[in-house]
Parts: sequence; C-alpha cells; structure tokens
Amino acid sequence: MDYQALADLLFPDVTMTPEDLEKKFPLRDVPQGAVVTRMAPSPTGFVHLGNLVQGLTSERMAHQSGGVLFLRVEDTDAKREVPGAVEVLINTLKHYGIQFDEGATMDGDSGIYGPYRQRQRADIYHVYARKLVSEGKAYPCFCTEEELSAMREQQEANKENTGYYGKYAIWRDRPMEDIQAQLDAGNPWVLRFRSTGSIQNQFKFDDLVKGKLTITENDIDHVLLKSDGIPTYHFAHAVDDHLMRTTHVVRGDEWLPTLPFHIQLFQALGFKLPKYVHIGPLMKMDGTSKRKLSKRKDPELALTFYKAEGFPVEAVYEYIMTLLNSNFEDWRRANPDADPTTFPFSPKKLNPAGSLFDYAKLVDVSKNVISRMDAGKVYRLLTEWAKEFDPDFGAALDADPDFATRILAIGRGGKKPRKDLAVWKDAKDYMGFFYDQYLEKPAFEGKYDASLIADVLNRFLASFDFADDANTWFAKVKAITEEIGFTTDMKAYKADPDAFPGTVADVSTFVRLAVTGKTNSPDLYTVMQILGEDRTRQRIQDTISLLKE
Ligand code: GLU
Repeated sequence: MDYQALADLLFPDVTMTPEDLEKKFPLRDVPQGAVVTRMAPSPTGFVHLGNLVQGLTSERMAHQSGGVLFLRVEDTDAKREVPGAVEVLINTLKHYGIQFDEGATMDGDSGIYGPYRQRQRADIYHVYARKLVSEGKAYPCFCTEEELSAMREQQEANKENTGYYGKYAIWRDRPMEDIQAQLDAGNPWVLRFRSTGSIQNQFKFDDLVKGKLTITENDIDHVLLKSDGIPTYHFAHAVDDHLMRTTHVVRGDEWLPTLPFHIQLFQALGFKLPKYVHIGPLMKMDGTSKRKLSKRKDPELALTFYKAEGFPVEAVYEYIMTLLNSNFEDWRRANPDADPTTFPFSPKKLNPAGSLFDYAKLVDVSKNVISRMDAGKVYRLLTEWAKEFDPDFGAALDADPDFATRILAIGRGGKKPRKDLAVWKDAKDYMGFFYDQYLEKPAFEGKYDASLIADVLNRFLASFDFADDANTWFAKVKAITEEIGFTTDMKAYKADPDAFPGTVADVSTFVRLAVTGKTNSPDLYTVMQILGEDRTRQRIQDTISLLKE
C-alpha cells in the first residue's frame, strides 16, 4: 500500500506540515520545572464541583510553580453543546477565582498557542491525521453503524472483548481500490488509529495521583477523526496538549481506561508524553455506603447551587483545599489570616480513590471563613447575593449601608468571633428583625400572664435611658427583676427552681422578644443601640399594646 498516496487522497487540502506547526508554537519560555497545564472542559452548560476540583488543582500546580494555566474549550461534540454554555463556563470559573493566563475568553482568544476552541482547530488536526496516514499509522474505515452494532453483538455472544480490533478491524488492510470505490460513492468514513499493541503486554506507568500503575496495552483501532472531520477527544488531546506545550494533564480518572491508547498515540505522533494527574471522583455518604456524587440525585454537584445558597467563593475554595490536601486545615489553623494561595499545595496528597464530599464540613468551613471577614466585606458580599437571590432583602440592605454594616459588625473581630452565618441565605433569619418589615410578632411562653409581661415592659420603658452604658442598662434590668419578685441569683434558682416565680433571664427574654421578636439574638444592649431609641421604644410599646388585646 502506498500510504503517501492514501494520505494525499484523504487530505488533499492540507498544506501545512508538522514542522510548520512546531515552529508556529515554540517551546514555552518558562522556568525549569514550571507546570504548564490547562482546563479543558466541554461546554455542556453544566459546571460542577468536579470542574472546580480539577480547576483548582491545575491552577495551584501552574501558579505555584511559576507556570501557565490556560483554558481550552473542548467543543468537538456539537450535539451536546448548549447555546451560551461557553459563557456560563468562563463566568463560573471566574466567579470561583480561577484566573487563566491564556486561552478562550469572553471576547475571543488570548495567547499565541490558539485557537483555544477545538472546532476552530480542524486544519491543525488534519496535518497530523495526514502524517499518521502517510506513515501507515491510521486508515479510513467505512463501516456503517449497523455493521458496527452487528459486530458488537457477535462479540458479546462469543464472550469476546468488544471493539474494533484484530479480525474485526475489517478496514485495516483493505486495498486502495476498495477505499477509492467507497470515496467515489461518497460514503462517509472515519479515520482510525492502527494499533500495534497487544493485550498480552503490560507496562508500568507513574501517575501523580494514582501512583504506580500497571497498564495493559491497547489493541483497539480507536477513531481519531469522526466522519465530519472533527477529532475525537483522544486525538485532540494528543495534538492540542503537544502543540500548546502542556507539561501536566490534570483530568478526571474516567479517562484512565483510555490512557493506554493516549500513550500509544503520543508515541505514534512522536510527541513527548506529558505527566498525568488523574483525579478520583467526588464521593458522598449515602446512608452507610459511599457513592459518586450524581448529577441527577445531588443538587450540590452543580456550582450554581453554591452561589444560590450564598456560600462565599472563599469558603468553597477553602473547603475544596481541605478536600484535596488534608493538611490544609492544620495549615489554616496555624495561619488564620494567610492568603490560601501561600499554602504549599501538592497533587500527591490527593486521595487516589476520590475525595469524600461532606456538606456539614463545608458549612463549618464557611462559618469560619465568614467569621474572619470584616463587616464591610460581609455587607458587600451579602448585598450582592441578596440583590440576585432575595431582591426584597437586597433592597433593604442597599437602602442603608451604614445601618446594615453596624448590624453585621456585632461580635466580629477578636479571638472568638461570632459564627452565625454559614451562607448568605442565613442572614435574613439572623438579622431580619432589625428591619420592621421582617420583624415577627413576639410569641411569649404561656407560663407568664400577659399582664405580668406588660408590667415588666412598662417598667423597662420607664427606666430606659438610651445614653446608658451596657452596665447601667443591665443594672436596671436586674432592678426590675427584683421589683417584680423574680431572682437575679441564677445559682440559687438552679438549685431550687420552684422557690422562684422567675429570673433575670426571663425578664431579659420578655424585653428581647418585644424588641427582636425572637428568643435568641445578639447582645440585646447592642441591638438597641443600633436600632436607636425611637424604634426600640416603639417596638416595646407595640408589644405592650399587643399584650393588652
Ligand atoms: N473535555 C474533557 C472533559 O471534559 C477534558 C478532559 C481533559 O481535561 O483532558 O472531560
């Protein structure tokens, strides 16, 4: 067979050579040992936690080593593409702080190793397809869907491995006349790789996450180009990662089964093999057993979920870091204020079997992250979230930034900051009572007469002086407690509760309920200071009227 003639026949329009491309995309000028890596998602419109795990791993590896991170859009599967998906992808990754040094952007491409969208790279793939054909390493296959399924059925019936290999690879050695006849008839064809591997042979391979692997050679003549001339993932991976000078491929371990083929392909093309970082799937506990997070069953797989719940980006980031490198938590404890990018990240610490996602832990991390923010930042992020997901609350926050910031400053700073908020969604419940429209009617315990509570509130109003400091304010609450025959001695009360009609805690609760509508709130004195004298008095007065009804 004259392979050169076959190459000319199949790819008459290819004018560039591999040498031209080598020149066009020179080796990168990066420091020795720098990691050049990429995110190569398919634009399906669904951006998930796995993308972020992969994204942060790549981002850390690249930037920690003084290397490069780029974004390549793998849009070869036009059938799966959703309109606007590329924008969603770029925006979501940006939202989570993944900064690309080059690649696809909202306004086209940035960088000299592009195009970075695979559908725009057809010419480039064809240069290498032609080369492989001319060297007898690839050939056209004209099998129809029906022929391929019949083959599969037969293989299944014979209990043989399925796929296009060995005697089933019926177009592997067909004469030129057969090929010519099919082309003349205008029949569609795919380009297949001519595998020289055997499943009898094994070799050792080192993966940065999985460790030492024993791999069986590939014997299947996989498809390189589909009938529309667009490459499969495998072929595009080899060509793109070579020409874009990727040093490390960070990807999900669902690609492990085709790794033997990828290794073969790099060899056949004469490309240096990159290093591989195969990340295990995200798992979760379902009852007592572990399973993979699933798109269908687990809303928390989608990144939109975290935004809508109101997890700050930093919290998701920190949580993922704890998932990837278990020593991150200790590091954070020792360096509470450090920039997380100064943490020495290592891909080798990833769990080869996949990380266990734990929502409760994320909530915990998020509480800590928010507790470390200053009030101004909390206000800014909360308001941004509320404007999108709770516009009514957003408008309230927006109307008086100073008021909201004072509320959010309660218990912030110091060694033991309050941890009321895990997500922005929690904020309305926590602080809504400051706003008249969200104030709930107080629900007093049936144990005390309405008249007694009203009496306490009247006494409180009579002695209330907005200018009092916290100690004077509390001394007055205690005085009222004693006037009505309740006790301020909590120890004595605990020892013999029946000896007292009530305590200073009950008196405080009456006032707290009147002012906040809740039995739980941040420090009541501070709450009143923020609400101001008039609103505090008004609320207590309203409650007294309510008690009289
Ligand atoms: N487009 C592939 C995917 O989304 C990329 C895998 C890779 O990073 O190589 O799974």
